[in-house]
Amino acid sequence: MMHLAINNAMIVTDKNIFKGSIGIQDGKVELISQSPIEADKVIQGDGKYLFPGIIDNHVHLNDPGFTWREDFAHGTKAAAIGGVTTIVDMPMQNEPAVSNAEIFEIKAKHVSSASYIDYSFWGALVDYNRSDIKGLRKAGAKAFKSFMCPVGKDYTSLFTGQIRDMLEITKSMDALAGFHCEDYNIIAYEEQKARREGRLSIKDYLKARPLSAEIIATQEILEIAREKGAQVHICHVSHRDVVDMIHEYRNKGVEVSLETCPHYLIFTEEDVIENGNVYKCSPPIREKNNLNLMWEAIENDRIDCIVSDHSPSQIDEKAESLGAFDAWGGISGLQTGLMTMYNEGVVKRGLEPTFIARTMAKRPAELFGLGAFKGQIQIGYDADLVLLDPKAHWEITDESLAYLNKFSAFTRLKGKGKPVMTILRGEIIVENGALSMVERKGQLIRC
Ligand SMILES: [Zn+2]
Repeated sequence: MMHLAINNAMIVTDKNIFKGSIGIQDGKVELISQSPIEADKVIQGDGKYLFPGIIDNHVHLNDPGFTWREDFAHGTKAAAIGGVTTIVDMPMQNEPAVSNAEIFEIKAKHVSSASYIDYSFWGALVDYNRSDIKGLRKAGAKAFKSFMCPVGKDYTSLFTGQIRDMLEITKSMDALAGFHCEDYNIIAYEEQKARREGRLSIKDYLKARPLSAEIIATQEILEIAREKGAQVHICHVSHRDVVDMIHEYRNKGVEVSLETCPHYLIFTEEDVIENGNVYKCSPPIREKNNLNLMWEAIENDRIDCIVSDHSPSQIDEKAESLGAFDAWGGISGLQTGLMTMYNEGVVKRGLEPTFIARTMAKRPAELFGLGAFKGQIQIGYDADLVLLDPKAHWEITDESLAYLNKFSAFTRLKGKGKPVMTILRGEIIVENGALSMVERKGQLIRC
């Protein structure tokens, strides 16, 4: 007899939805059937959607390092409640940044018993770790993150000449190079000018990070990727024009993927101006017209991944008194991705829920080296699953967030379609919004 069965659910794949039952044994999906399955424990899935567990490939949990902003225990608990079963954690906002294999192992050991869900690590791609990249790849990093603008003391940015070199290295190791694309000449100049003139509001911040900066930087990466034949991933694309440019290059044969985030799909620059620094992120949230165009891109399968870019901070770091340029840039969204995307895409815009299975599970798994065992509801795959009740209403409040710092730009949103059960490798880890087991069984996946 099976260990666990979920019967009569609406099973969501990246292409279609069908009514069926899933049998789970030894942490894997063992059986998919039209009729109910007998098992030691049976979950009635009637009227609920069963999605593959969400894979969030862009998360900053800051552990070890800036753990007053977030840590693995709080971050992965929040993720599990929100239906996320695997994250790929970023190498910066770690102390030290994950720039070589030794640091990778220190981080692995440090968080080894802290995680409620499975996890994998990005490696750093900075100007001082050229000779360490191979070791990092061997340790299990599939993707390497790089910036074209400075981000921190030990997280140096690369100039275009260095990027040409680095892409040769990542190509030779079958690694994915991910880029934060904003042109530093433009944004640094605009910021200095604004500071000199004493213009420090969030409006001035938006003005200092124009769309042209994102387009120019993205195009540089795409041209270099084309020249070198390397695989690149464009992080947190904020605007439809950038999406379209990426597809022009894809049509020319460049191996490029892209991600966007819920905050670019829900909010507008008016929301940012109205609400201030809590909505500060980079690239910034764009104009209202962009929203429909971004959703059209999702509907037409032009966006690979929807990720949180969970970038938590303390509330003091978002204080209006700091001025917009000195306030923390980043939004906490790890817990609320599935519910907000279901509400925004399916409830409000009438999209098929398949876009969620595609952009928040299958495609991220494939791109980040997990595609052979995660990201889909398939026989032999890890039984990472999330059950969503399409009739359940929700409201995001600060208290509803399991983050270490309980605030977010998503607070106060209301909607329909709520994750009610999260299953990690065949074990129910969350039921009705609360952890159902105290043990933390999340495992590191070395890609
Ligand atoms: Zn990020």
